[in-house]
Amino acid sequence: MALGRLIDGFADFRAGFWKENRDLFDRLAREGQSPKVLIVGCVDSRVDPAILTRTQPGDLLTIRNVAAIVPPHQPDAAGYHGTSTALEFGVRGLSVEHIVVLGHALCGGMRALVEEGASHLSQYEYLADWIGIVRHARDMVTLGLPDASPEERQCAIEQAGVIVSLGNVLSFPWVRERVSAGTLAVHGWYFDLRTGELSAFDPETALFRPMRSTADAERMGLRRAGGDHPEGSDRHLVRFIEALRATGMRPGLTVGRAEIG
Ligand SMILES: [Zn+2]
Repeated sequence: MALGRLIDGFADFRAGFWKENRDLFDRLAREGQSPKVLIVGCVDSRVDPAILTRTQPGDLLTIRNVAAIVPPHQPDAAGYHGTSTALEFGVRGLSVEHIVVLGHALCGGMRALVEEGASHLSQYEYLADWIGIVRHARDMVTLGLPDASPEERQCAIEQAGVIVSLGNVLSFPWVRERVSAGTLAVHGWYFDLRTGELSAFDPETALFRPMRSTADAERMGLRRAGGDHPEGSDRHLVRFIEALRATGMRPGLTVGRAEIG
């Protein structure tokens, strides 16, 4: 039974991990949290950022929403800005040093964007507006890669969505200030659960490339990119699509990695 697994799991956690890590929990209770990394991931049950990165309580400030999207800075807009509120708390409240936007393969939210207008999506009240934040990315991929297979197109849209969200992260003035000062770096990552590969958007080649070391991650992070928005995001998107075209989209897209150059 679904809930039984949770109750048993918690009993196991309390008797095992919690007990073995009393010092860690005592310290976190006493001193509060000071995570260095904020991750924006998808609600998808298969891509839990803490499980993927084997991190401990206190390590990650995690925002999860449909399709791992960051909306643009909208200071005067009405509404409940859940993702922006958490982003602000991480940056201004906790002074995180890294923001990671973590997209993933087989993303249902991004597929809804690919299939926008289909009748099975009409039951959702909020979905279209939310994923519409990255609609522009879908349109650019659709126009720019007319010969892509449906699988390749979905993957390209998932990755292009990460690039748009990176641009949106940089639209918040307090993010830009810190990125310009070199105290905050912004990263676009992509996880493919079929291959187990984690790749990162490389601003130099404009492609998502496998990431296997801290040096890879540092090199591909966006730092000192103040003033890079909104032209920055569009420029990266245009270069991304050009780079995919140049590779013939293989093997990069079908296996979630780009092994060229
Ligand atoms: Zn997803």
